[in-house]
Amino acid sequence: MSPTDATGDRTAGANPDAPAREPREPSSGREPRRARLSGDPRPGLSGLGDGELEKWLAAAGQPAYRARQIRDAVWRQNASTAAECLTLPAPLRSLIDESFRVDTIAENEIKVADGGLTEKTLHLLSDGALIESVLMHYPARGYAGPGKPLHRERHTLCISSQSGCAVGCPFCATGELGFGRDLETAEIVDQVRHASRRVAATGTHVTNVVFMGMGEPLLNLDRVLESVAILADPRMFGLGARHVVVSTSGVVPGIKRLTALGPQFTLAVSLHAARDPLRDVLVPLNRRWPVAEVVAAAREHARVTGRRVSYEYVMISGVNDTEIDADALARLLRGDLAHVNLIPMNPVAHTPWQASSPERVAEFAARVRRGGVGVTIRANRGQDAGAACGQLAADRAGEPEPSVVAHRRELIVRESETALRGSRSAEELPADLEAAVGTGRVR
Ligand code: SAH
Ligand code: SF4
Repeated sequence: MSPTDATGDRTAGANPDAPAREPREPSSGREPRRARLSGDPRPGLSGLGDGELEKWLAAAGQPAYRARQIRDAVWRQNASTAAECLTLPAPLRSLIDESFRVDTIAENEIKVADGGLTEKTLHLLSDGALIESVLMHYPARGYAGPGKPLHRERHTLCISSQSGCAVGCPFCATGELGFGRDLETAEIVDQVRHASRRVAATGTHVTNVVFMGMGEPLLNLDRVLESVAILADPRMFGLGARHVVVSTSGVVPGIKRLTALGPQFTLAVSLHAARDPLRDVLVPLNRRWPVAEVVAAAREHARVTGRRVSYEYVMISGVNDTEIDADALARLLRGDLAHVNLIPMNPVAHTPWQASSPERVAEFAARVRRGGVGVTIRANRGQDAGAACGQLAADRAGEPEPSVVAHRRELIVRESETALRGSRSAEELPADLEAAVGTGRVR
């Protein structure tokens, strides 16, 4: 992912191995309903949805009013251990410690960029999986009257929904890492709690959450939806739906499922190319769900929810930034309740490509605008902190072999040459992507 501010049974289907989110009931000694994915068998306390905490308390013979105290400890005090839940009696604190992880994130490595306006964090999870989140501060700006800025100050957190990603977009550092695992609900929302803890020290709070970190949110849709519900719940984080953006590379069944649920958050679609041959290369998922199907699903989503869809378009010099591409993009989206965000590509180790020049981006934007589609040029954040998401995790994995990098670059150049000539990719979906979207996992 790239840290820009573009302001969740999975779609991904009934996976028998999907992680549980039900706490172990303390007195019954029953096994959790489903196996969990992280190293620690205890579920994350912050991932308990509406009613689940009450159910657990009842089974533990505890009074119902403890639910509020526990939620306050998790969401107001941002407790990271049971010992920090000071309003609770000691026996309940021990019971919580036996039954839950109060924090699912084991360690953080923070890198600051843009003169303090961007904070990029590498999180270590209990099983050793690595994920990243990026906190972007936007000071108030403009003038709308005495003491009233035109744009209020914002603190936007970009979070991960998976460790790694199976989609494998060749310009994305996370894509190069491959797929690790789905995140549990608590691991998703704990990224928000960690950032909240940090901003609280400055008297502010996280105002926006965007699912634009590592992973494809619509391939972990159950847990993304649970996370969004928890973040929206006024007893927990209390963030309005308008302040949440979920970005997808185009998992059509997932978009349709979201449409059936009604407005939950702003949907962003990573388009990057309006023509199938090129998008087959840039977003390999396009070989399963081509441009027309993705845009039709997004258009229907906008029609049913009344909410404008954002299209993300990473600008890659000489690859997807030509006049032909601008015209194809305008033709594709003209008349839709849609807006395009142009993002200059962040350099990534395995990629032979460069970002389009600022002049090219401006010309492209003007041409798409003249074609009747709204466009914004987004500034990239965090260039000096391991620019693209996945990069800190990639750095931890060590320097790639130069021969591997050379081979990968050669492959990308070869594939995109075919695409630039206008032929569709003959490549099958990579095996792990096929596994992620294949039978059973995507409805
Ligand atoms: N997997 C989802 C969400 C995470 S990626 C998706 O692809 O939509 C979030 C955004 O960052 C996507 O639009 C992605 O294309 C973009 N991105 C990834 N690598 C980038 C890079 N090197 N430079 C700029 N943007 C990038
Ligand atoms: Fe990266 Fe998103 Fe593509 Fe996955 S789908 S490889 S996270 S850009």
